[in-house]
Amino acid sequence: MAKTYKQIMDEARQAVPEVSPEQVKAKLDQAKHPVVLDVREKDEVRQGYVPGAVVIPRGFLEMRVEEAVPDRKTPIIAYCGSGTRSLLAGRILKELGYSDVSSMRGGFTAWKNLGLPVKEDRQFTPEQLIRYSRHFLLPEVGEVGQAKLLDAKVLCIGAGGLGSPAAFYLAAAGVGTLGLVDMDTVDLSNLQRQILHTNDRIGMPKTESAKLTLQALNPDVKVLEFRERLSSENAFRIFEQFDIVVNGCDNFPTRYLANDACVMLKKPLVDGAIWQFEGQATVFYPPQGPCYRCLFPEPPPPGAVPSCAEAGVLGVLPGIVGCVQALEAIKLILGQGTPLIGRMMHLETLSAEVRFLKLRRDPKCAVCSDHPTVTKLIDYEMFCGLGGGDNGNGADPDGGHHPEPPRPTAG
Ligand SMILES: [Zn+2]
Repeated sequence: MAKTYKQIMDEARQAVPEVSPEQVKAKLDQAKHPVVLDVREKDEVRQGYVPGAVVIPRGFLEMRVEEAVPDRKTPIIAYCGSGTRSLLAGRILKELGYSDVSSMRGGFTAWKNLGLPVKEDRQFTPEQLIRYSRHFLLPEVGEVGQAKLLDAKVLCIGAGGLGSPAAFYLAAAGVGTLGLVDMDTVDLSNLQRQILHTNDRIGMPKTESAKLTLQALNPDVKVLEFRERLSSENAFRIFEQFDIVVNGCDNFPTRYLANDACVMLKKPLVDGAIWQFEGQATVFYPPQGPCYRCLFPEPPPPGAVPSCAEAGVLGVLPGIVGCVQALEAIKLILGQGTPLIGRMMHLETLSAEVRFLKLRRDPKCAVCSDHPTVTKLIDYEMFCGLGGGDNGNGADPDGGHHPEPPRPTAG
């Protein structure tokens, strides 16, 4: 016989004991506490929730609860807005075999009215809810991850070949603060690959052109321009303002400077390098993996390595490597996946081959070992004379290659 709503609720009340918000709070304060399960809809949870609660909307309960609470003996206290849906949810949980289930009387409204602690996640604007909707669908990102992205501060060294795609995708993903270090102006020869810039901006400072493009794409992003050449004088001041550094600028003095500054400030350096048809990407982040000096202790002699301006680069290649750098930065921000720390992706575009090389730390590294010999920043161009770059001002914005390819190691 069909049941009425009242009958169903009466049955639920008999099957699922109710506890007061104060009792829930007391249990939560104990070292070993029950799982508090919020069964409200997403937009309700956005207005605030019980700190530490596991959120599974009522409509997804049967599908998701086994993953969230695998042990069916785990005590669960369910709550909703007013205490009705949580009773019904409790009944389902009992049917699923959870033995110790109760429901919070009066729901979140009662909890809040008693002045008990409430946690509120970042509030997204209606536009942001649409803009980042594809991120929200991924459990690995979700609203919590998107909030991390919006709070993150990433510095791109160079707004050129690698910096363009990296900054472009970081901005699209909603990385809230992007810094750009580049003292170049846009040149016609850049436009074959440096996609932040446009024909009508030739002669404009690259940081200014980049800012226009990035903010047109996503007004959420704050772009900080550093129209200066990275040096021992300004590296700490600039780097300190950011969580992660993306290196898209590969003259050797800057490469060593960026590495040493990141090691000393304990910040991850997402590195990229390109050479004609070959690209490499890795993350230098000791002590989990090596730094650049572990692989290449000293810069090559002046003139030993030609720059991209001299050797050429396939236009699409920095796009691929720069996107890998953006991806690695986003993984680090989210704390998801396995970063390219201690591994280097090597891409050969003509043969369409991708290899991953294992990289090892040098226990005697001059900068990241326990007993470093390099303890302050060095301006190598002062004596090694490597200008590099499109215009010889020291900022090769294409990320020229490493002095020699790293050797694969066992494993
Ligand atoms: Zn090192």
